[in-house]
Amino acid sequence: MILEVVKFGDPVLRKKGARIETITPAIQRLIADMFETMYAAHGIGLAAQQIGEALQLTVLDIRAVTDRPSTLELGGQLADPNGFMPLVLINPELTPYGPIVPGPEGCLSFPEIYGDVRRMESVAVSALNQHGQRIEFKCGGLLARAIQHETDHLNGILFIDRMDRAVKEELQEDIDLVQADTKARLKLKSQRR
Ligand code: ZN
Repeated sequence: MILEVVKFGDPVLRKKGARIETITPAIQRLIADMFETMYAAHGIGLAAQQIGEALQLTVLDIRAVTDRPSTLELGGQLADPNGFMPLVLINPELTPYGPIVPGPEGCLSFPEIYGDVRRMESVAVSALNQHGQRIEFKCGGLLARAIQHETDHLNGILFIDRMDRAVKEELQEDIDLVQADTKARLKLKSQRR
């Protein structure tokens, strides 16, 4: 089922996600719905907060982006990042490592808004997958950027928080418009109840 993607201005985007201790059928259904929603929106990552659930759960699939490379290291061996997709991360713990590189980012919760964000080029990840199994890997490039962006969501942090002041100032008007639109919608929804 395709779910509605929560936009900036909805308080759930600022909530830290609860850890998932058991992969219940409800969580499995949520994972399937999040993938369907992400693919329908042409995104490469989607966090639980973005469909209104404050949980430590994110789904990713970078295969649609062919012009921004990624690297992957599994058990000390280089591996094909595309072969590792689609990817589910539950309760992810990240250890990012340098260098710091700028790169363009967008977010499904900020329609039509794109800006450079500086992040560590690589990241070591420890998480559970959709079967509740521990997965550990290192990655770089686009995949490392996407995982850092999504894991930020799980902690209530948004990409606009990580932008340089000048980048954010240039986008501020558009950001304010998304926020005002979301707040107006939320108000309307609460009045209808
Ligand atoms: Zn995002």
